[in-house]
Amino acid sequence: MKIGIIGTGYVGLPTGVGLAELGNEVVCVDKIKEKIDDLKAGKLTIYEDGLQDLFEKNIAAGRLSFTTSMRKAVEGADVVLIAVGTPPHPITHEADLKYIYSAATELSTYLTDYTVIATKSTVPVGTGDNIEQLIRLKNPAARCDVISLPEFLREGFAIHDFFNPDRIVVGSNSEKATAVIKELYAPFADKTDILYVSRRSSETIKYASNAFLAMKIHYINEIANFCEKSGADVTEVAKGMGMDARIGKRFLNAGLGFGGSCFPKDTMAMAFMGRAVGTPIELIETTIAGNNKRKEEMAERVLKAVKQIPNAKIAVWGLAFKDGTDDCRQSPAMDVIAALLKNKADITAYDPKAMGTACRILGDKITYADDMYTCVKDADALVILTEWKQFADADLSVVAQLMRSKKIMDFRNMLNPKNTLALGFEYQCIGRKFD
Ligand code: NAD
Repeated sequence: MKIGIIGTGYVGLPTGVGLAELGNEVVCVDKIKEKIDDLKAGKLTIYEDGLQDLFEKNIAAGRLSFTTSMRKAVEGADVVLIAVGTPPHPITHEADLKYIYSAATELSTYLTDYTVIATKSTVPVGTGDNIEQLIRLKNPAARCDVISLPEFLREGFAIHDFFNPDRIVVGSNSEKATAVIKELYAPFADKTDILYVSRRSSETIKYASNAFLAMKIHYINEIANFCEKSGADVTEVAKGMGMDARIGKRFLNAGLGFGGSCFPKDTMAMAFMGRAVGTPIELIETTIAGNNKRKEEMAERVLKAVKQIPNAKIAVWGLAFKDGTDDCRQSPAMDVIAALLKNKADITAYDPKAMGTACRILGDKITYADDMYTCVKDADALVILTEWKQFADADLSVVAQLMRSKKIMDFRNMLNPKNTLALGFEYQCIGRKFD
């Protein structure tokens, strides 16, 4: 099939590469010329495990190409996937659909043969109806159907998740469009649950799923707070809870709160949609407020730990919102750093993949270290904010020699408390019992 993909970000690019690997002819369009120039030159614009090889292989095979021309991506395509951003509106916090509607307007001109327009972006209920109306208005002769094809991939595992999805949800009100999508996803038919639902249900499934996972994270963080006061250990509690198949083990790691490009904006958008139709979803509203507060509380813990030290130097391990990605959008690490900077903290940070993206946000407000050991040199506190495996594997005896004051605040529960204490560190973590 010929596939056009609009938007070559964290969703569009791995999806394009994956679909090309399945044998489709994929043309990816982005309006940012620099991105397309890099991609055309064979340079990836995001970090994703396993992406590089497939990217190179499919370009070489002639199945994957990049352009800034909407016409080249859309004309003659069987399916056009919209994978542009849907950021939160700065004032109302609902999903801002300006990129969606602008993409729909642009693509409408180039629809020639029958085309399925599939929205991969996370969009509020009813957006498919609006896209359809907009296209009909701009190009009444267009032969197309608009469907919802929500994306569930996890950053850092995008390629793995593309080829091994837990489920595929297709929100279609058209049998013709459904038949096209069945053909596109035929390689998954035997190994993955494919759910066919109405367009509005599909749009809701995406938000309801993300909000549920965010609530699960916030819940275990509240249980961690309880454990800290009651003498229980949240890792043991989470293990016991997760053994119940009705609860499940995942998303029960207590930490410093959820973040990233999806959960914060999707919970806000879901909350907005609930209010808009007169049924506020209190659980989500509480989760958002609690999660915001949590990052401030974590920053306060750090400030309290170094309060007595004049001109304290704080080392930070981790900037990305989670391991396996360079994405710093709404990263809890960045929020904690912002709160520390408000208190004029002197921060040196290291992240294995996100130094470039973080630097574009923080500029010269912090110092960037070349590696995790240089980062802790002469520091008074080490704060672990992202769960990169290399931090768990760090040689703490080296860290102990390099630091000025031996304090570690492990907000991702990465380190072994006993080993850390044995090296003379003052150690704080999240909801674990270790004395
Ligand atoms: P992104 O910001 O990384 O990428 C979006 C890309 O779209 C950008 O490169 C931008 O330049 C391009 N773009 C915007 N308007 C365009 C236009 N008119 N023509 C061509 N290109 C255009 O965003 P993302 O993280 O890939 O997310 C995209 C959507 O997928 C969002 O709705 C998001 O909520 C959803 N989603 C994201 C993830 C994730 O892990 N990032 C997972 C599931 C769903």
